[in-house]
Amino acid sequence: MNPGMVTAAYIVAAILFILSLAGLSNQETARRGNLFGIAGMAIAVLATIFGADVTSYTWLIIMMAIGGSIGAFLASRVQMTEMPELVAILHSFVGLAAVLVGFASYLDPDSHLEGAAGTIHNVEIYLGILIGALTFTGSVVAFGKLNGKIGSQPLMLPHRHLLNLGIGVVCIILLFIFLGTGKGAGVAILVLMTLLAFAFGIHMVMAIGGADMPVVISMLNSYSGWAAAATGFMLSNDLLIVVGALVGSSGAILSYIMCRAMNRKFLSVIMGGFGNAPTSTATDGDEEQGEVVSISAEEVAQLCKDANSVVVVPGYGMAVAHAQHPVSELTTQLKKAGVDVKFAIHPVAGRMPGHMNVLLAEANVPYDLVLEMDEINDELGEVDVVIVIGANDIVNPSALENPNSPIAGMPVLEVWNAKQVIVSKRGMATGYAGVENPLFFRENTRMLFGDAKDSVNAILTSL
Ligand code: NDP
Repeated sequence: MNPGMVTAAYIVAAILFILSLAGLSNQETARRGNLFGIAGMAIAVLATIFGADVTSYTWLIIMMAIGGSIGAFLASRVQMTEMPELVAILHSFVGLAAVLVGFASYLDPDSHLEGAAGTIHNVEIYLGILIGALTFTGSVVAFGKLNGKIGSQPLMLPHRHLLNLGIGVVCIILLFIFLGTGKGAGVAILVLMTLLAFAFGIHMVMAIGGADMPVVISMLNSYSGWAAAATGFMLSNDLLIVVGALVGSSGAILSYIMCRAMNRKFLSVIMGGFGNAPTSTATDGDEEQGEVVSISAEEVAQLCKDANSVVVVPGYGMAVAHAQHPVSELTTQLKKAGVDVKFAIHPVAGRMPGHMNVLLAEANVPYDLVLEMDEINDELGEVDVVIVIGANDIVNPSALENPNSPIAGMPVLEVWNAKQVIVSKRGMATGYAGVENPLFFRENTRMLFGDAKDSVNAILTSL
């Protein structure tokens, strides 16, 4: 393919990526958005493979076969509940790729850029490696925090802000030394800066507490985009720059949306520490704890049959239990019986942005029944029965009522205003943020203990 054709293919791919993002912003068009993305990526990969830059196909084919097989194997085995971890680890690959490409570009014997062009190229390499390295380790820690191998509590090192600032200042000083030095010392400086950025990435995400994790995921998503854009500059690849900028800016917008959902300032999230009880303990709810009243699936079925309106609030436990299909079936049955059924989705429900929407779409729940928190919160007072399925933090009244709660100020679904609340979960365990939930002890709350899938199936049997 001549360079003109490659450029034309890249423009088509870039347009498809923009259409893909536009499609993904809405549930009805999300499938189409995915198809645009797949088509864009296929065109981009083919144009790159057949472009003039590729001179030997042997290594390319071997590497694509290895990478493609690992990707296909992992993607075919990954459970829906493991998607957040998969996304986090994929971000880490983008970061690592930027680091490796950065070193390769710096060591490239064919690169003879002099003067201003050489300096600009070296700045691109330095920044690409810096962003890539912190994205890499940050994403690996996020992966560990999401799959529970690393605790969700924030790590609060003494003088941690000073430590971060110190690393930042040293990296800036190293940049100037790097620009004024030759190749040999340059590599040593790059290695030193990479190690510092690795440490920074680990420390940054370790310091971020449980309930702030959604922001971190979208933030790392954004960083991985900027790392890809930096790689594009290093390789003079326009498409990579465009795609990196698209991912970087959409990730930044998502971080902003997530911050708003958590009522948090982006800077305070980055500074870390949320999820650490400020003045009271995480078990503050004990003081007002009364009795937990349990309920049977038969009784829940009867309550639902007698109700005019039912709202389902899904959370992470629904994903763990794979309960979305029985929940969808329950919706169908209740609608047939003339009950008005709706779903209330909290922006940070589950373990990744849009987690619940994806599961409900997979189970063919009609989109028009699925409402966002802001659309339904005011209506909850009129609802006869709210069924909370495997959710905890997102329906915790202490976020609004207890200023000392570790999640104080986070907007939540105010399910306790409904006439009757049913909570389906296995026991009395806390949610991701590790905070007790006074909702379970409220007078109008009944606990339906057991695995969410078994419980919903039992309700269906009784219906
Ligand atoms: P939570 O993590 O607060 O609660 C989930 C609840 O589900 C647990 O209390 C657990 O209780 C229950 N559960 C687990 N397995 C089952 C099962 N098989 N059947 C029934 N219940 C089960 O989830 P929420 O969705 O309410 O809140 C999300 C939390 O995750 C927030 O703190 C959010 O900040 C955080 N987060 C969100 C991310 C995102 O992007 N959305 C990313 C990272 C973190 P029990 O063990 O007693 O059954």
